[in-house]
Amino acid sequence: MIDVIIVGLGAMGSAAAHQLAQRGKRVVGLERFTPAHDKGSSHGGSRVIRQAYFEDPAYVPILIRAYELWERLERDTKTDLLRVTGGVMIGSPKSPLITGSIRSAREHQLPHEVLDCREVRRRFPPLIAAAGEVGLYESRAGYLLPEECIRQQLSQAARYGADLHFEEPIESWTAHERGEGVTVTTGKRTYQAQQLIISSGAWAPQLLADLELPLVVTRQVMFWLDPVGGIEPFLPDRFPVYLCASEHRYILYGFPSIDGKNGGVKVAIHGSDEVCTPDSIDREVRETDVAEIRARLAARLPALNGPLLKARTCMYTMTPDENFVICKHPRYSAVTIAAGFSGHGFKMASVVGEMLAELVTKGTTRHNIELFSHRRFNTPQA
Ligand SMILES: Cc1cc2nc3c(=O)[nH]c(=O)nc-3n(C[C@H](O)[C@H](O)[C@H](O)COP(=O)(O)OP(=O)(O)OC[C@H]3O[C@@H](n4cnc5c(N)ncnc54)[C@H](O)[C@@H]3O)c2cc1C
Repeated sequence: MIDVIIVGLGAMGSAAAHQLAQRGKRVVGLERFTPAHDKGSSHGGSRVIRQAYFEDPAYVPILIRAYELWERLERDTKTDLLRVTGGVMIGSPKSPLITGSIRSAREHQLPHEVLDCREVRRRFPPLIAAAGEVGLYESRAGYLLPEECIRQQLSQAARYGADLHFEEPIESWTAHERGEGVTVTTGKRTYQAQQLIISSGAWAPQLLADLELPLVVTRQVMFWLDPVGGIEPFLPDRFPVYLCASEHRYILYGFPSIDGKNGGVKVAIHGSDEVCTPDSIDREVRETDVAEIRARLAARLPALNGPLLKARTCMYTMTPDENFVICKHPRYSAVTIAAGFSGHGFKMASVVGEMLAELVTKGTTRHNIELFSHRRFNTPQA
């Protein structure tokens, strides 16, 4: 008998597989594609990690634990997954990006500095802070290598005995109204287990259709450009990860140069709202995508507005309040859901794995996940 089936071995599913297998559970993982593939939400070489969380101070204890678990994974696997470069959030002192980051930093006594616009320009010359804007600098911020994180979570899961199947999409699942017991069907076979975790990223609206969760999948584009004056000002020993507020709800964000001299420097816009599905997403990068990033770079980071080296699409799965959905299924106690990571979940994948493992084995978790309950949506089925 299988204890737990995990559907989707991306960021969250691979973390849950690792955590559950390490606890001695018999785990079967089912993944539609290959390990650390580029068709979901977890590719592109880098993900920002930070703690002075503008989104909500309730995330800070979770983030502190996320760092601990990433660092533990690095030690256990002797790999390099998390690089601390410092991070700067730039915007008007009244912008949610700045007020929220300062609030989280103060409430949780996180090391931080508030810089005026001249100090931002002095310390990070490629970044333009307008008169009156400020920068919230957080020394603990940095970035993760997402594909490598997933590979290592999978390798740890396999090391502890998880049975991982790739290129085996699940077609349907059923569960008993009360108690344990689930049946999962793929094109290859039918599996029975005591419990099920659905961590299928942008495919969650399909696998959880009966719940009518308000999940919206959106198309996002990442760009790698060759800096105009050379790569030196963007080297990670002098240039941080950054988020820049704008008058709209878009945030321009990016990374130092992490792919060597000819790899370019990655930048993207958080908040593009072109709705798609995993089947309908336009994976080609359009001239209008490039024009939009160039316009934003011209205002904020002209030194990066050089030749475009490559661009890739990716998907967010948004909830209306941009908080996650991590909870038991309202009707089936054997089913646990991890969905709606709203474009900011990767940094917490390590700790989401711990939450899921605890929910499955104990029915509760040490982490405060009230923010992530399906109950907040008041949809008829959820
Ligand atoms: C461009 C971009 C930039 C981002 N930047 C950041 C950032 O800087 N910091 C940050 O913290 N977060 C960031 N995020 C968000 C973060 O990457 C996501 O929240 C996170 O990766 C979501 O993980 P997931 O496990 O839900 O999805 P995924 O990692 O996509 O995993 C879902 C998996 O389920 C599989 N699957 C789906 N359906 C089935 C099925 N029927 N059967 C079997 N398998 C199935 C899929 O193939 C996939 O592998 C970014 C996201 C994007 C797109």
